[in-house]
Amino acid sequence: MQTIHSVVEIQQFAKSCGQQNKSIALVPTMGGLHKGHLSLVERAKKIADMVVVSIFVNPTQFGQNEDLATYPDTLAQDRRLLADDPVDVIFAPSVNEMYPLADGFSIVAPSIANKFCGNSRPVFFHGVSLAVLKLLLMVKPDYAIFGQKDYQQLHIIKQLVKEFYLSTQIIDNPTIRKKNGLALSTRNQYLDHKQHQIAPILYQVLLSVRQAVRQKNQSLAVIRQIAIKELSQYFEVDYLVIVQADSLEALEKPTQNMRLMCAVVLGKIRLIDNIQL
Ligand code: AMP
Repeated sequence: MQTIHSVVEIQQFAKSCGQQNKSIALVPTMGGLHKGHLSLVERAKKIADMVVVSIFVNPTQFGQNEDLATYPDTLAQDRRLLADDPVDVIFAPSVNEMYPLADGFSIVAPSIANKFCGNSRPVFFHGVSLAVLKLLLMVKPDYAIFGQKDYQQLHIIKQLVKEFYLSTQIIDNPTIRKKNGLALSTRNQYLDHKQHQIAPILYQVLLSVRQAVRQKNQSLAVIRQIAIKELSQYFEVDYLVIVQADSLEALEKPTQNMRLMCAVVLGKIRLIDNIQL
């Protein structure tokens, strides 16, 4: 398992894979790896000859009041974790490698980037799009694996690939949870003991919404209101929406293929989750 820090070297690696007719799967992460990330790595290993895990805490996706400064920097730990079941390359570029120009280009993602998570994190999806575009251009992977855990991000990345005619196939993988239902997340480590007990309620409420939608006794608006009220007892609710799963258009009436997406804040920790309805 080699660790590459420079863009030139990862480009050389990608080129030599191409010359040997070896397919590449890229798993983009910000490090702080957990079993959710490892599930993406396993998927990558199944579908491609070579697996690259990128670890880059991307500054352009953090707003001024967000947790860039305290986001865990865990490359050594991540490397040890991956060493148990090695990948071919860990790509861990510096900020300068990723953003060589002091006054560089930016990307404006489609308007969906300003809704839901984008409403309270205005730069987030634009920054994610820029970093992912750069990674896809550098590594030119046949596949890139993303978690359904970040459902809005997954949607925007699929749009990005279409918009810029990239040949990478975007593969999504289900959310990995603790036994109590809490979706694994790098930020969970900041939850204290009491918050760890409260956090799984988010998933329980999502499941109760699914049940209510399937029973078809109440309108989506009423089901939403009840869920928000329930969540508000434990969390500060950022949003809870029922959307069409492919377009992310918010729904007033049930349709085929619905997704429930939610973000809440517990103490200072933002938790997001989503499920198919
Ligand atoms: P992050 O390091 O949090 O930016 O996440 C990197 C990738 O891992 C993204 O595609 C996430 O959607 C995915 N991911 C994060 N948490 C989970 C999880 N619990 N289950 C599955 N995928 C996840």
